[in-house]
Amino acid sequence: MKKKIIFEDEKDFMLKKLLKKFKRKPIILLDMDDTIAEFAQPFWTLHNKLFKDFVDYLKVNGWNFDEFSKRGKDAYTLFKYPGLFRNLPPKPYAKEFIEDLREIAEVVIVSDSPSGTSYLETVSLDIDPEHTIDFPHSNPTDDKRMWLEEHFNFDKDDIVFCSKKDRVIGDILIDDKPATYNSFVEANRKIILLDAPHNRDIDTKWRAKDLNHAKKLVYRMLEEMIKEEAS
Ligand SMILES: [Mg+2]
Repeated sequence: MKKKIIFEDEKDFMLKKLLKKFKRKPIILLDMDDTIAEFAQPFWTLHNKLFKDFVDYLKVNGWNFDEFSKRGKDAYTLFKYPGLFRNLPPKPYAKEFIEDLREIAEVVIVSDSPSGTSYLETVSLDIDPEHTIDFPHSNPTDDKRMWLEEHFNFDKDDIVFCSKKDRVIGDILIDDKPATYNSFVEANRKIILLDAPHNRDIDTKWRAKDLNHAKKLVYRMLEEMIKEEAS
């Protein structure tokens, strides 16, 4: 069956052909939550259901969830909700985005690994004065690993779990987190910012409104890098 091309214009097509000829494949680092996985929407839906709250995820325009939840830092306990990270929907175009990047680059996932529950540890969360729920087991890191294998066939060798992404070698990072964006810019490294309500105060020409747009920006950024290397 003929492959569906979502956006490619003539320039993108020619550039992709050029990039394929490079001896060294560039390394594209890719974040997960709110970059290739929908996170904010499912998280706040779960949060609102359990805490009987009404947070609109589109209005969460800061990084600290405790400032938006009426339960404050309890919001972070929900990261341990069993299966949360296993059942996130992929973002629109994520599959095509990763498939196309793999034609010209090595794609490596760099993702934070929220704590789960340790052996024999149970997390108890008060829902209201009469109800408590227990999380007997959660393993966000393996949930993420299985999610990546299921949706995008990622091998574990191409997944790096870490908190500070500027410690990882790669040519371009695609991410939505403001602090990560700033650390890459300060280190004079290439980063494409995936648009989200919590990063709109950042002024950059490398903001992608979605993954379809991010692919175009990756091509443009690689083109710039090739010119820089040649000069
Ligand atoms: Mg993210």
